[in-house]
Amino acid sequence: MFKSIYPYTQELIAEYKEHTANEIETKLLKGEKAFRDMLNIPLDQRRQWMAQVAKSMRDNVKEHATIISQEMGKTLQEATAEVQKCATTIDYYVENIEQILQPRIISSDASKSYVSYEPKGIILAIMPWNFPYWQVFRFAIPNILAGNAGLLKHASNVSGCALAIEKLFTESGFPEGTFQTVLLSSQHIEPIIADPRVQGVTLTGSTPAGKSVAALAGKYIKKTVLELGGSDPFIVLKDADIKEAAKVAVQGRMQNAGQSCIAAKRWIVEKPAVAEFTQAVAEILQAMKQGDPMLESTNMGPMARPDLAEDLGRQLKETISQGAHLVLGGTYEGCNFAPTLLTGVTADMTAFREETFGPLGVIIEAAGEEAAIALANETDFGLGSALWTKDLEKAARLARQIESGNVFINAMVRSDARLPFGGVKQSGYGRELSLEGTHEFLNVKTVYIH
Ligand code: NDP
Repeated sequence: MFKSIYPYTQELIAEYKEHTANEIETKLLKGEKAFRDMLNIPLDQRRQWMAQVAKSMRDNVKEHATIISQEMGKTLQEATAEVQKCATTIDYYVENIEQILQPRIISSDASKSYVSYEPKGIILAIMPWNFPYWQVFRFAIPNILAGNAGLLKHASNVSGCALAIEKLFTESGFPEGTFQTVLLSSQHIEPIIADPRVQGVTLTGSTPAGKSVAALAGKYIKKTVLELGGSDPFIVLKDADIKEAAKVAVQGRMQNAGQSCIAAKRWIVEKPAVAEFTQAVAEILQAMKQGDPMLESTNMGPMARPDLAEDLGRQLKETISQGAHLVLGGTYEGCNFAPTLLTGVTADMTAFREETFGPLGVIIEAAGEEAAIALANETDFGLGSALWTKDLEKAARLARQIESGNVFINAMVRSDARLPFGGVKQSGYGRELSLEGTHEFLNVKTVYIH
């Protein structure tokens, strides 16, 4: 049984049965049939159905946002924004998918040669609970428009979200089986990855989950895209707008109660700016209200599960014992973790070395620009990064030195349908969104006409 538990109170809100092997086989049959049927369905029709998904989400935004908040604890406001972002992303793809899928004509010694982008079959999506709609939609929208079928294995604490998303697709006109949810625990995933009807696997989650799924996918020669953890640097140079940087640093770190792969997990600040930056972030953090996610007055909800809060508590304790200074917060009960601030964090400490997935801001002092970049890169991760300076030429030069999948200058790292998204190093490989993300699970087929 999968349990959905309201993180704020730990109340059990629903239980779901794991699907049986027979039920999974039926889903694979339906998925394969939907994929074959979609090959004969014009793109325009698929666009119309997809637009209907967006309409239905917008018409029922409160209902969808409530399921998200109840299952994983983000504020209703954040959940509403998440649902709206999915709908906006549908608008973007409905508008641009034809262009993205355009065959690419290449001159060669043929009379005509080109590359066409063709769907492959069912793509398995193993997704996390932190953005339970967005993570799914950013995979599903381009893939389904391009003609693949989607099979979702969602995190086991957000089964209600998984079923609500399946319903959105089913009710919007897509052939039955185009997008399905399978309720399954991680240890039973191998037969699905092995199945020849499944042609690719995308996973967003922790690095250990990525390693395990990639190993299985390798065993069965299935393409993978891995969007794993991160420990993004947020670099503030001494010539930056410190007040604005502090505001965005807190937003980038504390949104979703700090549970975002691209959260600003390490604030690396050039020495002359440390005092001003510390004071500015402390003031903002002090004014934050952590509590009941359903209340409008709350601007930070609980963490999603008590074990996640426990783990953050362990990282905090270790980092303090290694010499960091606790400025604010540091207390937690159940899933409710107070916004916390540490200063004096150095590269050998736990909060620097490990990904911290919760409301913990850490300030790391850098002796200068070069030291800041070296600290930014002193991590196994390489997802996002932010760099704050008023000197844009310098920013462009330093951006090339940062080992990450993206660099946001004087802005917060975020995903946007128009821009490719993904990481390097232990943060994974492959891209989502934009043109690069759409092509990941397509057959890049060369056609040569003599
Ligand atoms: P996991 O990575 O364990 O879970 C993410 C998804 O992967 C879930 O659907 C999970 O299913 C599935 N999964 C996990 N292990 C396997 C496996 N061996 N085979 C197949 N599927 C698997 O994240 P947690 O929820 O345990 O969170 C732990 C840490 O992971 C966080 O503290 C954070 O550091 C990181 N994380 C990063 C995210 C990101 O956006 N990059 C998102 C979520 C977590 P199930 O729930 O059934 O185990």
